[in-house]
Amino acid sequence: MSQSHAVVVGASMAGLMAARVLTDHFDQVTVVERDHLPAGAAGRKGVPQAFHAHTLLIRGKLILEELFPGLSADLTWHGAVESDSSSDLIWHQHGVYKMRTPSGLVATSISRPLLEWRVREALLREPKVRLLEGHRVTGLVATPSRDRVVGVEVEPVDASVPVDATLLQADLVVEAGGRGTRAPQWLEELGYGPVPVTEIRTNVAYSSRYFRLAGPAPDFNMCILMDQPPKTRVGVLFKVEGDRWLLTLQTMLDDTAPKDEEAMIAFARSLPGPQIARFLEQAVPDSDIQAHRTPTNLRRHYEQMARFPEGLVVLGDACTSFNPRYGQGMTTAALGVVALRECLDAAGEGVPAAGAPGFALGFQKALARAIALPWQASTGEDFAFPQVVGRRAPGSGLINWFMRRIIRLTAVDRDALVGFLKVVHLLQPPTALLRPRLLWRVFFG
Ligand SMILES: Cc1cc2nc3c(=O)[nH]c(=O)nc-3n(C[C@H](O)[C@H](O)[C@H](O)COP(=O)(O)OP(=O)(O)OC[C@H]3O[C@@H](n4cnc5c(N)ncnc54)[C@H](O)[C@@H]3O)c2cc1C
Repeated sequence: MSQSHAVVVGASMAGLMAARVLTDHFDQVTVVERDHLPAGAAGRKGVPQAFHAHTLLIRGKLILEELFPGLSADLTWHGAVESDSSSDLIWHQHGVYKMRTPSGLVATSISRPLLEWRVREALLREPKVRLLEGHRVTGLVATPSRDRVVGVEVEPVDASVPVDATLLQADLVVEAGGRGTRAPQWLEELGYGPVPVTEIRTNVAYSSRYFRLAGPAPDFNMCILMDQPPKTRVGVLFKVEGDRWLLTLQTMLDDTAPKDEEAMIAFARSLPGPQIARFLEQAVPDSDIQAHRTPTNLRRHYEQMARFPEGLVVLGDACTSFNPRYGQGMTTAALGVVALRECLDAAGEGVPAAGAPGFALGFQKALARAIALPWQASTGEDFAFPQVVGRRAPGSGLINWFMRRIIRLTAVDRDALVGFLKVVHLLQPPTALLRPRLLWRVFFG
């Protein structure tokens, strides 16, 4: 009997998590990655964003632990910093500092290269998984009728790599190639027409640097200082593994992120609180400064396509790439992987199995439902900036007004604070804040 085989394009967070879920349903899973992957916690060309602060929301952390039992302990062993999301955090937003009180919501600060490395190692312990690194997927292979994807074409990225294969047959291909995915072109080439797209221009600019402390430790593990719209600056300072601190300075639209030390200090001084500027006075640089730009929030609506080939699903940033400042990308990729697992688990009870007619589009629709809330939250925040152009959803003005009131309450009201943090960490929907006591305080408090 032939063995079932799934191929995953991309060995970043979405691809690694998807591969783990596929091992429950396929005899073999091959993850194809164009980069040569580092043996430890190091950056690499295919994920340039990894140098910058990556918040792992608590919902994402819980899903990762479910997929890879023991991962949280492993991360802590490798130096990840566990912090209470309130008492260990200084957070200035919409003109107020949030209360600092134990919230019981424990977040993990870690550099993105370390997180990805430990997740990759956990995945590679699965005997069904094969990693084909240093290989680029160059196209899809489809049946002559083009209604089903049956594999991918691959090529080595450089001549030094021996050619393992040029064609990988697959019962299911998971495209997790990130924001720069070629899935839209591949689908057009197969005759499926253009993928509908929503794009919101925010032109987010990041600038980051690692530091070590030369003076006494501050009384926080994390500090977030956010300008109030229409001003666009944000400073994020995290303690990460190895007694290092990661500073990421962000801005949007026509403002620029600092490129050198002097500009970094001036930017820190322009933030709505003194903590990061003070930190810089007693910190020693431990890396160069790196910059990154994300021009738009980009959502590709595969779920809206009239036709979609079987044997292919698209998830992670290849489907939706958020404004990174809200820290939702990895967690939303995890939600997409949970949706994939649910579709695969449900197969057989009147629901199509992977590869059967209806599975692929059914998954893309389930993914769209899973993404809807984070997308609404992040674009809603973006539309709080009057300079951001785009179609505002009906009622978004009222929602933003309500959330601003809740944010002001987080300075003085523990209930509002914990409720708000749960929404931010995608542990509950914003509607959970519509409780009588909070509503009373929002309107009359
Ligand atoms: C500046 C910045 C800051 C961010 N901060 C946060 C944050 O705080 N919290 C958070 O949760 N998220 C954050 N994100 C988002 C996060 O990085 C992504 O959502 C996350 O990495 C999941 O993406 P992905 O796996 O879908 O794609 P990517 O991480 O982009 O990875 C795609 C992978 O596919 C490989 N690949 C691409 N094409 C091919 C091909 N044809 N063949 C083989 N391999 C291929 C690439 O080399 C890469 O390894 C941030 C993003 C940016 C840009």
